[in-house]
Amino acid sequence: MKTSRRGFIAAMSSPAPSPADAAEQQHGHQHQTVPSDISLRVKSLESLLVEKGLVDPAALDALVDTYENKVGPRNGSKIVARAWVDPAYKRRLLSDAPRAIAELGFPSVQGEHMVALENTGKVHNMVVCTLCSCYPWTLLGLPPVWYKSSAYRSRAVIDPRGVLKEFGLDLPANVELRVWDSTAELRYLVVPERPAGTKDMDEEALAGLVTRNSMIGVEKVKSPTQRVVR
Ligand code: FE
Repeated sequence: MKTSRRGFIAAMSSPAPSPADAAEQQHGHQHQTVPSDISLRVKSLESLLVEKGLVDPAALDALVDTYENKVGPRNGSKIVARAWVDPAYKRRLLSDAPRAIAELGFPSVQGEHMVALENTGKVHNMVVCTLCSCYPWTLLGLPPVWYKSSAYRSRAVIDPRGVLKEFGLDLPANVELRVWDSTAELRYLVVPERPAGTKDMDEEALAGLVTRNSMIGVEKVKSPTQRVVR
């Protein structure tokens, strides 16, 4: 059974069951998975802050809803798919990314400048934040754990081709590789190459092919026939 975040917090703050109740619970239904220490700590902090009136639960719900439902790689994939089907849009995106991104209804929420980088058969762009984890949240959601790791942040600069190989991308030697270092003021969106075999696909179907990693530049977008059907 799925418990809502708010429901879980309420349950956590209710009194412990008596031994008889606990025995009944053990045999009456499946046991609830115990959350990790970190999620328990976050939930405890949240319930304390709410209890003391320091934060508004509705504001927290709105924030969580934003990151669960409103921002994420699906936004970036819509930008890429539009650029693939509309050459004029692609030109606008490459020359003035913030304006072109806002055209599709994704205004900057972090106040940063955005630059779109086009991957072609001759040039491959990949993005890192060597200092911390700067990332275009509005378009790609929260950064993956590996993006924040010191291994990626250092090796993406020292041995980018080796890192790409580990992601399964063996870049030919004649393809120029450019590594871009994000900052809080300047973040990047990679526009990956449109894969072969997608001539008849519409914009929505194309958006479905675009992966988060391809928009960071650590993999290519696979053609529909290359994708594994599960
Ligand atoms: Fe950063």
